[in-house]
Amino acid sequence: MQAKSPAIPFARPMISEEEKRAVLKVLDGPILVHGPLTKEFETSFAKFTGAPFAVSVSSCTAALHLSYVYLGIGAGDEVIVPAQTHVATAHAVELCGARPVFVDAESETGNIDLDQIEKSITPRTRALSVVHYLGMPVNMERVAEIAKKKSLFVVEDCALAIGSYFKGCHVGLFGDVGCFSFYPVKHMTTIEGGMLITQDEQISKRVSQLKAFGYDRTIGERTLPGLYDVTSIGFNYRLNEIEAALGIEQLKKVALFLKQRQRNHEILSRELSQLDEIRQFKTTAGEYRSSYYCLSVHLTGKAASHRNLIVKYLNENGVGTSIYYPQPVPLMHYYQAKYGHREAGFPVAASISKHSIALPVGPHLKEEQMLVIAETFKKAIEMIKKGSFK
Ligand SMILES: *Cc1c(COP(=O)(O)O)cnc(C)c1O
Repeated sequence: MQAKSPAIPFARPMISEEEKRAVLKVLDGPILVHGPLTKEFETSFAKFTGAPFAVSVSSCTAALHLSYVYLGIGAGDEVIVPAQTHVATAHAVELCGARPVFVDAESETGNIDLDQIEKSITPRTRALSVVHYLGMPVNMERVAEIAKKKSLFVVEDCALAIGSYFKGCHVGLFGDVGCFSFYPVKHMTTIEGGMLITQDEQISKRVSQLKAFGYDRTIGERTLPGLYDVTSIGFNYRLNEIEAALGIEQLKKVALFLKQRQRNHEILSRELSQLDEIRQFKTTAGEYRSSYYCLSVHLTGKAASHRNLIVKYLNENGVGTSIYYPQPVPLMHYYQAKYGHREAGFPVAASISKHSIALPVGPHLKEEQMLVIAETFKKAIEMIKKGSFK
């Protein structure tokens, strides 16, 4: 927890006049949900990613949950889930009464270790979920091979991966579904919000129903206002018109935001490249294009055991940081207590959680600030070397 907001925050939503005007316009009108802006946002998101279908939802967690409800998993079913991710990736499985089976990360990228997936698959496994960790795409060709061989449904958690491409194709389109987040610290925001993309019209239709109570027809399809039937159970997981208005404006700027993130990442990465005490995760290379969510440094040697002191030093000197993620999900209390997981089962994810620091690269930062981050970080490392931290 940071005592006060640092001079260089880890993230800041990029809201300006366009967003404010768009929100006020919605408030001046009569339609706050079920309106044209939600449709327009879905259409522009589909266009941006190249998806045939996009369904807006109230969060990425909602998108993940609806994916498994669509699949119809429940007690006795298993889903492969990366250990190094946000809890939402696993919660979505757990919410359906199914069991998340965690697989450790590989150390170069922090992504799920593809070599360890097959041995975790049992006759009960129904789906395979992957997370593009910090925006670095997973090798989706290998994921598709495994899924095909074992007849598994593939869920891509793209919460940090708008603008991530594998072999020139936007992530989220390799699996059966791709789930995005518009939470404030992500690449673009609708405050709360999410999107599910798919190539499958049936999935898009069914998820659209499930997110709105299981109604059998949309407002536009009703012959008499207020007349509908319900053909299945459903949720209230809709995005509203104000959130959609924000999303439309943010999406117009997201290409620029991505460029600024990449530039900031390049500056910081270069400035820290000579440090022996850290290891940087692999980002864009060849067929993998990252969305540069942040620059996470994995501390090594003596620095590793001083992670929290380094974080404190950075925060006290005006540099905001974060940790992705604070513990491997299987070791979070709920999962640990329920399934009895041990750290030894997830050594790579555990090391990333304990020894990494996420540094900011967001579009709210200019080159001078990137240099300040680098200098402050180097000073912290100097202090470790000199033994100034006790
Ligand atoms: C933020 C995040 C989520 C949750 O997104 P919400 O929109 O807040 O539900 C899920 N998965 C990952 C990897 C995330 O980073």
